[in-house]
Amino acid sequence: KVLPVGLLAGVSLAWAVSVLIQHQGSLASILRSSLKREEFFLVYQPVIDLRTGKCIGAEALVRWRREDGSVLMPDVFIPVAESSRQIATLTATVIDLVERELPRLLAAYPDLLIGVNLGAVDLQNKLIVDRLALLFSRTAIQPHNLMLEATERALIDFDLSSSVIRDLRAMGLMMAIDDFGTGYSSLSYLTQLAVDCLKIDKSFVDTIGSEAATSKVVYYIIEMGKSLDLKMVAEGVETEAQATFLLENGVHYAQGFLYGRPMTGADLEDYLARH
Ligand code: C2E
Ligand code: MG
Ligand code: MG
Ligand code: MG
Repeated sequence: KVLPVGLLAGVSLAWAVSVLIQHQGSLASILRSSLKREEFFLVYQPVIDLRTGKCIGAEALVRWRREDGSVLMPDVFIPVAESSRQIATLTATVIDLVERELPRLLAAYPDLLIGVNLGAVDLQNKLIVDRLALLFSRTAIQPHNLMLEATERALIDFDLSSSVIRDLRAMGLMMAIDDFGTGYSSLSYLTQLAVDCLKIDKSFVDTIGSEAATSKVVYYIIEMGKSLDLKMVAEGVETEAQATFLLENGVHYAQGFLYGRPMTGADLEDYLARH
């Protein structure tokens, strides 16, 4: 007997959706048990001062080492952590790792600036303020050593996040808008947000030097940052031509494969010794 094609298609679609949901569901529950078992580690990507060529710090990027030894990238599990409400736990794990690893680097490089990524809801809870105050009180890490990176999506919920951001900046840490230009940014809301730094998203850096209409956008993003007197870090810099354009247009900091891939803390120490 032959099943009607429409029915078959319907069944297979429902099946595909259920597999997808189960997969998401299971990844979320594996994530839950892994967070307890500390299967996470940090790698660091150097951030360069384009004017001097020196490394001023690094962005901490989380990785998940599974029991079988494979390593999962954040693009795979951060969305799952967000949707299964585990992002605050993940952020706490990342802060624990920073607390453990950073003092060693600071012993040799006391002014290092380390970027730490936050999830969408992390700025809606005062717990993060208390947690960081504790970190500063019991380690050599100082507020000027940390820059918290949040996307526009996390910052847009202005009523909820503004008092936490105010407290954090009062402690002396820097706040950055991550992936700048990919969200809802408007000049009016940018002036209300109390941030110190814009991280220009790689997708704009990629257009530098191309004929594409979007290559003008990066120019206006930079002008916006300058007019608001914000620090700017360009992400995903891969070519000398991009670096030259950025420096000539007033962007002073950059990170990308041109300077270094994300590396272990030990490798960052070697990197710093050379730069
Ligand atoms: P992001 O914060 O924008 O981080 C930059 C991403 O771009 C990193 O990918 C980095 O490896 C990659 N990248 C840097 N330079 C280049 C380049 O020159 N070329 C190319 N092709 N890629 C480059 P990664 O490590 O996979 O992280 C992806 C995203 O995951 C991050 O984007 C961030 O949004 C999120 N993430 C990473 N670590 C954490 C964390 O600890 N907590 C939270 N909440 N999110 C994190
Ligand atoms: Mg980031
Ligand atoms: Mg970024
Ligand atoms: Mg990005």
